[in-house]
This record gives sequence, structure tokens and C-alpha cells, in this order.
Amino acid sequence: MHNFLPISYFEGQFCPFEDAKISIATHALHYGTGAFGGLRGIPDPQNENRVLLFRLDRHCTRLSKSARLLNFDLPADKIQHVITEFVKHNSPKTSFYIRPFVYTSDLGIAPRLHNVKKDFFVYGLELGDYLSPEGVSCRVSSWYRQEDRSLPLRGKISGAYITSSLAKTEAVEAGFDEAILMNSQGKVSEASGMNIFIVRNGKLIAPGFEQDILEGITRDSVLQVAQDLGIDVIERPVDKSELLIADEVFLSGTAAKVTPVRQVENYTLSTVRPITDKIREKLSAITEGRDPQYKDWVFGIDLT
Ligand code: PMP
Repeated sequence: MHNFLPISYFEGQFCPFEDAKISIATHALHYGTGAFGGLRGIPDPQNENRVLLFRLDRHCTRLSKSARLLNFDLPADKIQHVITEFVKHNSPKTSFYIRPFVYTSDLGIAPRLHNVKKDFFVYGLELGDYLSPEGVSCRVSSWYRQEDRSLPLRGKISGAYITSSLAKTEAVEAGFDEAILMNSQGKVSEASGMNIFIVRNGKLIAPGFEQDILEGITRDSVLQVAQDLGIDVIERPVDKSELLIADEVFLSGTAAKVTPVRQVENYTLSTVRPITDKIREKLSAITEGRDPQYKDWVFGIDLT
């Protein structure tokens, strides 16, 4: 059970987390017609009356676009305002995760996106490491990443997470920590809730949007940081066999941050990971507000 932050935003107001409840007839619960965001925040190590949120603007924009894909106009600045107020109401004292959610809130049956009420809520929880920072073992899933022609993959649509759930459970039940999904073309796509990178001969290689990945905000940050560190970065299709012989493999995501992969199927990867380590250290410094070059990525919220 998680430690939830005490105050949520629900049906247009702030209320105790326990009071934010939806009906069993809620449309989105039946049809997966919701979309969510996921942001991390930490108390500012330099100022106990401030918290820092990583790339708040990007997260709000992505959620607003996900809402648009569900036929729901919810401006990014409205989301950003609610999240800022949400943080002030909770004054979190440890590292935390915010989950904003847009959904069809109607109490009616029949799958559709028109003529159906929509709403938006936000709750949060304390969150330490989501995956072991020491590294994870991955199974190549028998479930494939969906295709954009049947599901809008540029949004974080809740219904899409059936595939992630199947893949994750299949991997864990087989003794692995995490799942890596191929796309319908048989190219590496991403993990159950993270993007993936490999390193070969000093070059950082990432599957591109053609491989049906989510537009990960951590992925975008990794690519920019790597370029700034002078690392060669290539976005291109990645074959399964490249995972098995890569010099380094890592996963990126808001919850997972940068998590090294130590094993893919029965292939053990090296524990020497110079590029993963460099990027991981740089990203930690950035998220903790210690890197002036990237100060625009960190949003300070004063808790007064
Ligand atoms: N892919 C999937 C399927 C995800 O759920 C996530 C987590 N949001 C990611 C990738 C990573 O995205 P981000 O870096 O924006 O958290």
C-alpha cells in the first residue's frame, strides 16, 4: 500500500484523498477512456520551504494533448495551475509522484468519446525507487506494443496499459523484473512503463517514434543531456539481438529515472556502464536543481 498525499483534486476542488471517490458506473473504468500523467517532485535540497518538479510544463502539455485525443479540451495551463495548487496543499516532505488523470466521468454505458462528460483529478503518493537502481533483469515479452493505427500512442491513454500490465506480469511470473516489448515490425519498442536505450561502441542508440514508443519526457531529457555531454546519439530501429550484445542497456521514465538493465533474457550485461552512469548522474543533478544549465527544466514551488 502506498503512502498517499493527504489532499487530492477531485471534481473541481481540493478534498481529502479518502473522499475522492468515483462510482462503479464510471464510463472510463469500463472502456479505458482515460489518460494520465506522472510527474516526480522532491523537496528542494537547498530550501526546505520549496519543492522542485521536473519539467512540469512538458508533462502538462503532454496530458493536454492526451486529453485532446480523448475529445476533451483541457488546456495545459489549467493543468499546471491545479498541479501547483495541489503541491501547495500537500507540502510534501519526501520525494513524491503526482498522478493527474483525465477521464470520461459519465455514468453511462456504450463506448464513445462524444456526448459523454469528462473530468480531471489529481492525487499523489510518496515514491522512492520504482525499480532497483542496481539494475534490472528484462524478459522480451510475448506481448507486442500496440500500433498507432489502432490506438493513439502519442497519448498516455489508460486503456493502453493492458498491454503493459500483461507484459509486466508475464515477466515477473517468469522471474524477471521488467518486460521489453517489440513493436509489430519486430523492432525493440520500450518497456512496460519506460523507454529504452542501448549503448554500442560509445554511441547512445534509442528506438525512434516509428517504433511506436511513448513520447517519454525522460527520454527527451536523456537525449538532450547526452548530446550536451558530447555523446553520439542515434535514433533508429533496434533489433532484439542488439539488446543481447549491447555494451549497456538502460530504461528511462519518470518513475524509473535511469535504471540500468543487468540482464536481457539469459544474457548477462556488463556492470561497467560509463555512459549510463554519466547520464544518470547528470540527470540527478538536474532534477535536484544543482545544474544551472538546465534550470528551466526544474519548477520551484514555494510552500508558504
Ligand atoms: N513508456 C511508457 C509506456 C510509460 O508509461 C512511460 C511512463 N510515463 C514512459 C515510457 C516514460 O515516459 P516519461 O519519461 O515521460 O515518464
